[in-house]
Amino acid sequence: MTADGAPGALLARHRAVLPSWLDLYYERPLELTHGAGRHVWDAEGNRYLDFFGGIVTTMTAHALPEVTDAVTAQAGRILHTSTLYLSRPMVELAERIAALSGIPDARVFFTTSGTEANDTALLLATAYRRSNQVLAMRNSYHGRSFSAVAVTGNTSWSPTGLSPFQTLYVHGGVRGRGPYAGLGDDAYIAACVADLEDVLGQTAGGVAALIAEPVQGVGGFTSPPDGLYAAFREVLDRHGILWISDEVQTGWGRTGDHFWGWQAHAGNGPPDLLTFAKGIGNGMSLGGVVARAEVMDAMSAHSISTFGGSPVTAAAGLANLTYLLDHDLQGNARRVGGLLLERLRAVAAGSDLVREVRGRGLMIGVELVRPGTGEPSAEAASLVVEAARERGLLVGKGGRGGACVRIAPPMTLNVAEAEEGAEALAGALTDARARLP
Ligand code: PLP
Repeated sequence: MTADGAPGALLARHRAVLPSWLDLYYERPLELTHGAGRHVWDAEGNRYLDFFGGIVTTMTAHALPEVTDAVTAQAGRILHTSTLYLSRPMVELAERIAALSGIPDARVFFTTSGTEANDTALLLATAYRRSNQVLAMRNSYHGRSFSAVAVTGNTSWSPTGLSPFQTLYVHGGVRGRGPYAGLGDDAYIAACVADLEDVLGQTAGGVAALIAEPVQGVGGFTSPPDGLYAAFREVLDRHGILWISDEVQTGWGRTGDHFWGWQAHAGNGPPDLLTFAKGIGNGMSLGGVVARAEVMDAMSAHSISTFGGSPVTAAAGLANLTYLLDHDLQGNARRVGGLLLERLRAVAAGSDLVREVRGRGLMIGVELVRPGTGEPSAEAASLVVEAARERGLLVGKGGRGGACVRIAPPMTLNVAEAEEGAEALAGALTDARARLP
């Protein structure tokens, strides 16, 4: 039963008032009512292991008492003060993030989402460089606003094709497919750098920035070889082009080996701008941009975000970040993520539905194909996602052609839960295979 009566009633009401393009998972979409740790419950009382952490938003755990208490305490004092006044939670969180960012003389501007963070980063970079030419990666996703879709490389995720920028797309973000797929690491990087040089050679100069996700998120948890963006950086520096690292999915140690995704590409130091959102608020709408003061100051006066970094979301961010660091969840993501990757690779070895299991830390993608063809299969991914739910496991979808099952659980995931999830996914692959020709 849904909370308001007959099963399905809420779905009918949803469809009557919400956009048709708003993505809902499952033949009978779930109404989640509460969560604890790595688990959530639906309105019918079913319990699920959440292997997608909300939507890569539940960074530490569902209903983490430390975060809930901080939010409740702050909400009991004052909900909102606006950026016109000093805010202790905002200043403290900015200090923590600036110090962690690796960016010298860093300033932090808070937003309410990843889209708005990228929008702001693009605004800053184009204002700083006085140019509207922007480099972006093929197959990338950066959000939903006019600016963000204009640098989103997969056209099926950018609905209009219109753009405020001259966007130039370059190769590199997707390792497993595309013209350089078969090359070794060094040759792959060299080919991508040559592509970048070639693209830049076709401009009259003056490109403002490159925006890139260190591990492509919506793109299917694919990453280039370590060092790609360090090699890009040498070219960018020669042309005075800023590097924006979109860490909306990769930040806070989720990739295991590094706190930020850019650190796998740290040859010439940190990016010029870094954007974050999703996990930092543990589900509260908190995002932002970090940039050197000089770049941040390219924004005109009177640029405020009414709700960005509000005291309640900042309090959530502070408590969440403190828990993450105190409990070394980056180390946990490395250890448990590594184990999970291994287990899933073993599971996949017995299935002709799986082309590749890839990932870093607790960001793991399982790419599915139509059996016998090697072609990406959105149908197989949907069947696996549905079958996993029947077995009490929630996973995400995405990737090129919608063929990737995405796994990004809360970073407190333990070994027993990793085993439980891998087993459920193994069962789901078998179930899905039986439903395909
Ligand atoms: N950047 C990346 C890498 C993302 O994955 C997303 C969302 O999935 C965004 C930006 C947009 O964030 P939001 O949905 O909070 O606007």
